[in-house]
Amino acid sequence: MTKVYLSLGSNIGKRKFYLEEAIRLLNGLPNVNVTKVSSYYETPAWGNTDQNDFLNLCCELETNLQAQDLLNHCQSIEKKLGRVRHEHWGPRTIDIDILLFGDALINEDNLKVPHPYMLERAFVMVPLLDIAPNLSVSGKPISEIIKSLDCSDIQKIDVASVR
Ligand code: ADP
Ligand code: MG
Repeated sequence: MTKVYLSLGSNIGKRKFYLEEAIRLLNGLPNVNVTKVSSYYETPAWGNTDQNDFLNLCCELETNLQAQDLLNHCQSIEKKLGRVRHEHWGPRTIDIDILLFGDALINEDNLKVPHPYMLERAFVMVPLLDIAPNLSVSGKPISEIIKSLDCSDIQKIDVASVR
């Protein structure tokens, strides 16, 4: 079993629905068990800022799948939930990124793990801290990494109040 951390984000339409549905579909994959889901956080769009706010969360899962197979499944779920790839960092119904895959270091054309931008993205690190407070990435505790990030834009959301 490999312990895996994913980052999920949505900024079109029924954001909460897309996130919940993605978690449900992930948990329904063969040989995948979703073991933890963080709180929901709202964050202004990153990169291309002329778009709706994102709803973000992180989840932990356990799997026997290989990393490439899990990536394929994540991309199928993105497609199933209506994600159309237009522009890089553009709006999307759902984005599923693999942050960590056990302690694997993967550097393939279509898959880089640990996710290359995770350490600098507060909207990834804040929800990750929720579910993995004792985790280290590249030898550094994430509680330390977060101290160097601007987390002022990241707002914990009462999920009952959001669409
Ligand atoms: P982004 O997540 O950066 O907004 P996309 O979701 O459109 O962009 O992903 C672009 C490509 O990133 C995908 O085609 C995928 O193959 C690649 N990729 C590389 N590393 C990862 C990873 N750790 N998790 C998910 N996708 C990854
Ligand atoms: Mg992605």
